[in-house]
Amino acid sequence: MTTPVEQTPALARRGVLLILSSPSGAGKSTLTRALLDTDPDITLSISATTRAKRPSEADGVHYRFMKQREFDAMKAAGELLEWAEVHGNCYGTPREPVEQALAEGRDVLFDIDWQGTKQVCETMRADVATVFVLPPSAAELRSRLERRAEDSAEVITRRLRNAAVEIGHIDEYDYAVINDDFERCLNEIRAVLHAERIRRVRRPAITEFADGLVKELAGF
Ligand code: GDP
Ligand code: ADP
Ligand code: 5GP
Repeated sequence: MTTPVEQTPALARRGVLLILSSPSGAGKSTLTRALLDTDPDITLSISATTRAKRPSEADGVHYRFMKQREFDAMKAAGELLEWAEVHGNCYGTPREPVEQALAEGRDVLFDIDWQGTKQVCETMRADVATVFVLPPSAAELRSRLERRAEDSAEVITRRLRNAAVEIGHIDEYDYAVINDDFERCLNEIRAVLHAERIRRVRRPAITEFADGLVKELAGF
């Protein structure tokens, strides 16, 4: 048996599946890292990808890097909760860690694109909260991709072209934030997570707690 994160029965809750999407370079990965560093109750869904590893990345930490053949095998075995082709590479969310975290009442953070978000929402809408991250301007988006210096000029151009498509899906998201001042943006995402955690529907036991209060009140 697993131990729920919160021991007080009235506070036990279902986990939140928090999805962040944005055009490449808007700051999702940096926001994700900062959120993970300061919130022990949320874990990252580590995607499988066929993209080449960047110099700053580690296998099993940022992604599970794999050949197309291995990715296709995971797909065929039904091991991916969702998958999509993004900027010419395949990306997918391994199913098992997500289901395990949910069963334990833990939250899961996803850095996935709009296509993946749609698929996760189709199957798990009740557990999902989605946030779209915008850059403060097109020029700043380009300079962040250039400053990050992890992709070739060709890859950067491709990502900037795809940015308009990604932004075109903003209406499908629950929340939208602008990553201008980093700390402010991070705090907005934290606020979303805190609010989602106390949604009444995620806290079935709170109804019992409320019923208990009503009984006590009847004795007054
Ligand atoms: P970044 O956008 O610059 O961080 O570049 P990445 O190469 O890390 O991500 C490329 C795209 O793939 C982004 O739009 C991600 O949201 C998306 N992505 C990452 N992981 C997944 C995943 O597991 N599933 C899906 N569908 N998309 C993903
Ligand atoms: P994404 O994961 O969305 O592609 P990253 O998190 O890799 O984006 O961020 C792209 C670059 O922009 C990185 O070099 C990061 O340090 C920088 N960055 C992120 N947020 C901000 C911000 N609010 N202001 C300035 N630079 C930022
Ligand atoms: P990058 O190659 O820059 O790491 O990621 C590019 C894009 O792929 C980002 O927009 C990121 O959110 C998305 N992405 C990463 N992993 C997944 C995933 O597992 N599924 C989906 N659908 N998108 C992903």
